[in-house]
Amino acid sequence: MPELPEVETIRYQLASALPFKVDTCFFSPLASRLIKQLDFDPTGFCITQIKRHAKWLIFELQPDGVILSHLGMSGSWRINQQPIQDKHKHIEFIDQTQKSLKYLSYIDPRRFGHFYILNNSNFKKKQSSFDIDITSPHFDENHIAELFFKSPKRIIKSFLLDQKAFPGIGNYMASEICARSGILPMRRAGELEARDIIKIKAAMALVVKEAIETNGTTFGGGYRDANGAKGEGLKNLMVFYQKYCRICHSKHHKTKVIKITLAGRGTYYCPQCQK
Ligand SMILES: [Zn+2]
Repeated sequence: MPELPEVETIRYQLASALPFKVDTCFFSPLASRLIKQLDFDPTGFCITQIKRHAKWLIFELQPDGVILSHLGMSGSWRINQQPIQDKHKHIEFIDQTQKSLKYLSYIDPRRFGHFYILNNSNFKKKQSSFDIDITSPHFDENHIAELFFKSPKRIIKSFLLDQKAFPGIGNYMASEICARSGILPMRRAGELEARDIIKIKAAMALVVKEAIETNGTTFGGGYRDANGAKGEGLKNLMVFYQKYCRICHSKHHKTKVIKITLAGRGTYYCPQCQK
């Protein structure tokens, strides 16, 4: 599933095709199920900027309005010189004025992705329900401490997957954040001290940054970036899907990673590095 770093990768890759004028707009017969609100037909509008909030892509349109796009389990936007031939293509925008990157397509085999095409005033209403993005300056140590203080009994790794509290963090990221901060995933939020919270904040930033630098993380047949390529983020993983911990690994020493299930999700940790 595309998580925050994968969505951010698609955002900056698409930015190379902007401004993008939607001269022609194709919707597949199933697209209407993915579009939750359609205030207007975007034909003739120009995409001037693409922003991101948590796992939402926000296509800003001229003269007015936005397309809000959530990739769900398997969605991706592709930018291409030729029309993409894919039976899972549900939206295609064509810009006749572009020299090369004329085709902007939304591909989604499992169709959990969803869209809102909103005028500015409806977008403002929708935006007021957004929670603080984990990469925002407002998501600081004090904010994390407050979240932990309010829910002291919650298991830290499962709490990191709570999309209301930590929007955009996915399963691989949660294991990696615990590993990088040296904290056992089954500890409870209320047990953590100020110095642990500082480590968690730094680990969150590091895991996001590394994943973006490698164009996101692709597992199995999953996520593809805006060029249709796999991300190289697997090489950043220290414990998730690893046999031996890559943090404490040395020539003379190997620690086996332990896999457990927490709240139904596979969770990996190093018994040596994490306390
Ligand atoms: Zn280790």
